[in-house]
Amino acid sequence: MHSTRPVPPPEPTLSYELHGNLYLNVTWHCTLRCAFCPKFNGEWEVQGYDLRLRREPSVTELIEAIGDPAPYHEIVFCGLGEPTLRLDVLLEVAAAMKKAGKRVRVNTDGLANLVHGRDVTPELARVVDAVSISLNAQDEATYVRHTRPKRAGAFAALQDFAARARDAGMEVTLSAIDGLDGVDINACERIARDLGVKFRRRVLDAVG
Ligand code: SF4
Repeated sequence: MHSTRPVPPPEPTLSYELHGNLYLNVTWHCTLRCAFCPKFNGEWEVQGYDLRLRREPSVTELIEAIGDPAPYHEIVFCGLGEPTLRLDVLLEVAAAMKKAGKRVRVNTDGLANLVHGRDVTPELARVVDAVSISLNAQDEATYVRHTRPKRAGAFAALQDFAARARDAGMEVTLSAIDGLDGVDINACERIARDLGVKFRRRVLDAVG
């Protein structure tokens, strides 16, 4: 006979290791509703890690989930959610990591200023070394089609955020997904070049 005892749910993945870096999963909330996002297809697993959270972790829980940061090249805020929506938590955990001498990166939609209604790049720049911003497309229509933003003006706002992040002293990389319908990857790269920031071609579903 099989036991009818329910199988306990797996522990939530607050931190996960990839490419010698430690990634932090701080929220599932997003300002965008990307059509290509795995979570909108019911898929929360990214490169073997189940990123579904049952609740948002606290600063203490995240710092405990990091443990000893020494082995990692970078601590990266990145999950299937937008880390800057939890700005206070992000700043506090990032400050602790800077104190420990670590390089800190935030993978973001670049919409923090639009959402928070102020320029948060100076606050970020105090504790964050690099931001990797999803540009996603070369023009607003293509951007809106793929990312379905909850707020108007997102495409312009993310480019303004990138310029301010650059001016605040953070290393800025714009990224776009190669092969996404209607996305002109070379035109995306030109936007990054015109802003004087780096560019990275991404592959769909690959975290980095
Ligand atoms: S920003 Fe990232 S996590 Fe959020 S909906 Fe888009 S792909 Fe998914």
